[in-house]
Amino acid sequence: MADVRLQAVRKTFGVLDVIKGVDLDIRAGEFVVFVGPSGCGKSTLLRMIAGLEDISEGTLTIGGQTMNDVDPSQRGIAMVFQSYALYPHMTVRENMGFALRFAGMDKQEIARRVQSAARILELEPLLERKPKALSGGQRQRVAIGRAIVRNPKVFLFDEPLSNLDAELRVHMRVEIARLHKELKTTVIYVTHDQVEAMTLADKIVVLRAGQVEQVGAPLDLYDDPVNLFVAGFIGAPR
Ligand code: ADP
Ligand code: MG
Repeated sequence: MADVRLQAVRKTFGVLDVIKGVDLDIRAGEFVVFVGPSGCGKSTLLRMIAGLEDISEGTLTIGGQTMNDVDPSQRGIAMVFQSYALYPHMTVRENMGFALRFAGMDKQEIARRVQSAARILELEPLLERKPKALSGGQRQRVAIGRAIVRNPKVFLFDEPLSNLDAELRVHMRVEIARLHKELKTTVIYVTHDQVEAMTLADKIVVLRAGQVEQVGAPLDLYDDPVNLFVAGFIGAPR
């Protein structure tokens, strides 16, 4: 696990100011949830941390190392998206090992990591299946498995459960909490589901129009929102 620090981070797309100076301090092992309305910049922030998007201004450090110009593959992060495209012609085992094989990792080490991820995610009985023979929740677990096998120091999740039905979301929420306990990685998790945020987070970051509105533990935000905007997202107005 590693700490993640953003200092005065900005992002512009042409004339559009999307991230307007964000400072954040995420401790190693912490589970941090980003919430905020659609278009406020949650995905852009994650993509900058992942290295999928350049940082226009400011500094990103992971584990104390400045990452602004470091290749995504060298950042020690893995990202899980909302739309988890699995390779349809590959089995679960092959899907989980593919990126490692592509990176030239030793076959035995790949097999060991896939086995370990499959155990954690309870996917062992499904390893030889193709994606079309899996339920939505099982597919999402495979997508998470693909991230786990890379042994990331930091996990980034961008609304990973929003395509699942309500019952499955609850189940996966419990799974993700268990995963965080077991793997002890730093997690940055985007959602607009209030219950997900309240139950998963050590710390919630409320974003609004490219800025941090409030940061705090779930109950602190719930009991003491700085304004109606935060209250509307997290707690009840007083
Ligand atoms: P969120 O994930 O919170 O819904 P995003 O980070 O996806 O928000 O988007 C934040 C803002 O940045 C939106 O106004 C979006 O239209 C804009 N944006 C995102 N990516 C690009 C891009 N590649 N080019 C131009 N504008 C973008
Ligand atoms: Mg988004």
